[in-house]
Amino acid sequence: MINEEFNLGDIVQTKKQHPCGCDRWEIVRTGVDIKIKCLQCGRIILLPRLEFKKKVKKVVEKHNDNVN
Ligand SMILES: [Zn+2]
Repeated sequence: MINEEFNLGDIVQTKKQHPCGCDRWEIVRTGVDIKIKCLQCGRIILLPRLEFKKKVKKVVEKHNDNVN
């Protein structure tokens, strides 16, 4: 379970890996539902926010575009 600190473009790691073997995903949409894209095969899945938070282990890479 992760906290609310995730943003568009962040790379997250899920507890279970995708059937393609990859467990890294890029967040491509946030909101009530979260859309994530598999970094290996490019498959996009849509998850309710709560479901997303249950599945994700951690944010592995923050998207830094808004920092500077
Ligand atoms: Zn995949």
